[in-house]
Amino acid sequence: MPTSTTEDSEPRVYHASWICPIAAPPIANGWVAMRGGRITGVGGPASRPSSPAEDLGAVAVLPGLVNAHTHLELAPLRGLVPPATAFTAWVRALFAHRRPDDRPDTPEAQVAIQTALDEMWESGTAVVGDISNSLAAVGLLARSPLAGHVFHELLGFRVTDDAPVTASRAQRMALATSAGVRVGIAAHAPYSVSPELFRAVRAEADRLTPPLCSVHLGESLEELALLRDGTGPWRTMLEQIGAWRADWQPPGCGPVEYLDRLGVLQPRTLVVHGVQFTDADLSRLAARGAVLVTCPRSNVWVGVGPPPLDRFYASPVPVALGTDSLASVADLNLFAELAAARTAAPAVPARCLLESATLAGARALGFDDEYGSIETGKRATLLAVALEGRPADVEEYLVRGIAPGQVSWIPS
Ligand SMILES: [Zn+2]
Repeated sequence: MPTSTTEDSEPRVYHASWICPIAAPPIANGWVAMRGGRITGVGGPASRPSSPAEDLGAVAVLPGLVNAHTHLELAPLRGLVPPATAFTAWVRALFAHRRPDDRPDTPEAQVAIQTALDEMWESGTAVVGDISNSLAAVGLLARSPLAGHVFHELLGFRVTDDAPVTASRAQRMALATSAGVRVGIAAHAPYSVSPELFRAVRAEADRLTPPLCSVHLGESLEELALLRDGTGPWRTMLEQIGAWRADWQPPGCGPVEYLDRLGVLQPRTLVVHGVQFTDADLSRLAARGAVLVTCPRSNVWVGVGPPPLDRFYASPVPVALGTDSLASVADLNLFAELAAARTAAPAVPARCLLESATLAGARALGFDDEYGSIETGKRATLLAVALEGRPADVEEYLVRGIAPGQVSWIPS
């Protein structure tokens, strides 16, 4: 994240019709002050500083958004994998376009990834949680204005040792990253990761700073069938692709209990999707300190149906928001994801949805000391969203769909 930290840089004060600190209610006719790329104050008309200010006019100022889950390396698949009515059908279509010899570090793939990063920044995203099998997007992310945590994601249903983790460690250490980009580790999903590999990934994550881990969990009914009794479309698929393991014992329980038994669910575990979770699953995740990341548009695209957002937000588990990849969503615009969440869950307060797209995501990715809210000391990576008309409820306005053309970054 390019930013000046010089002590003598000029202070800047902005006025706006709305300031949305996220950590506090929206402020009408508010102001925000910054210096050297850092926020130095925020408030309402009664506490306005007397120093010269720039009036941004009819805009809502809010922190840069946090997309807690995407796969930048799948950007070359934009528009190629059509929506499906069953999850394994979508996976088969994905496989058809993503052969083992596909390399996401080709010039064409790098252009697609760069375009995706540009799109994220232009639509208001400042921080990304990126899932990566190849680490091919790390260099581009490090040179972009975005900050991020890249999860090196491992798969292997037949793996019986920690060799993939050792190899990952060497790959991660060989990377040149910027201060704003961290590289950690993740396990893909219960149908693609053996119990041994889950434990090895968890142990490796515990050694990292911050000790984040991520897993796709409870996405489809097919996953539940496999875990319950070892049957269903996932069993068929794993056998067909030569990934089935004859000595694997189905745990006979749901996905959350399964990973809890393996010790995977710890504080700072990002559990992605959860479309099939029960209320007991959500309570168990909260008890373990995990975070739920929901990707509503992707869930519909891949055929598992919309996530139970009302139950998510009624539960004690923190909820962050992600777009998932361009193989299962039309764009990486997090405001569009918010709009889909609002349509799917009209009773969830707009304030909660906005927090998912900002502070909850920043906390999930370990960037909440710098991003996610407008508070003194944090980075002044702030958005001005142009308001049409005079919205009575600015939070509701912001979750009903904001086009990239309405979004601009405030000079700090
Ligand atoms: Zn994903």
